[in-house]
Amino acid sequence: MSGSLVVVGTGPGKAELMTPATTAVLAKATDLVGYGPYLERIPETRPHQRRHASENRAELERARHALSLAAAGREVVVVSGGDPGVFAMAAAIFEAVETGDPAWRTLDIRVEPGVTAMLAAAAEVGAPLGGDFCAISLSDNLKAWATIERRLRSAAQADFVIALYNPASRARPHQLARAFELLRSIKAGETPLLFVRAAGTPDVGVLATTLAEADATRADMRTLVIVGASTTRRIGRWVYTPRGEGPAS
Ligand code: SAH
Repeated sequence: MSGSLVVVGTGPGKAELMTPATTAVLAKATDLVGYGPYLERIPETRPHQRRHASENRAELERARHALSLAAAGREVVVVSGGDPGVFAMAAAIFEAVETGDPAWRTLDIRVEPGVTAMLAAAAEVGAPLGGDFCAISLSDNLKAWATIERRLRSAAQADFVIALYNPASRARPHQLARAFELLRSIKAGETPLLFVRAAGTPDVGVLATTLAEADATRADMRTLVIVGASTTRRIGRWVYTPRGEGPAS
């Protein structure tokens, strides 16, 4: 008897930004696995549905637990915030499959897309991701800080708009300041820079500033930072990046 495992994302926060496909998958699950606060966002739909809440950083352990439940015949849903494939549980599941019980490779595993923080944050301010962009996580839990610096430098040199996930945490208060310092050595000081906190929720807060003036202490774990490209501009209360080299005429 074999169950199934679906990895879903709840979106950035408010219920309307969770997709109907995700809602349907959640209603069918026998077991929900995830970080406690994400599980709390999900209304009880099915009686006797079991909830397995875990710590935020225990991702691989959580992935193995979910896979063993599915292998035992349960209909398991693993819950992430935002989109499950963006710096989240979907990759952790496949890491666990790659290194774990060979029988896990035959399980019915699926991923449902969700609205990632970068898209919700961009929509709050206009269209800052209107041209080419990239996303970098500043968390060095799983990669070296030197790798992050190399990617920041390359992204700045290539003039991408840069979305910074995980810009700050209590364990790493100085990294965003170091990232800004590096970017200032390559990009113009007047480059638009946005701090978008709790995007896609009623508590949203936006701070629009410039790279020269950005204060790294304004970011917390619920903030997404967007650093503009050379073409990113402010127009009235919006920030946008033209689709090409400049505004269409
Ligand atoms: N899978 C998630 C990202 C997980 S990494 C997604 O697709 O959105 C966690 C980081 O995402 C946070 O530190 C923060 O930078 C960003 N984030 C998540 N939700 C957010 C929100 N509502 N507003 C702004 N940033 C958010």
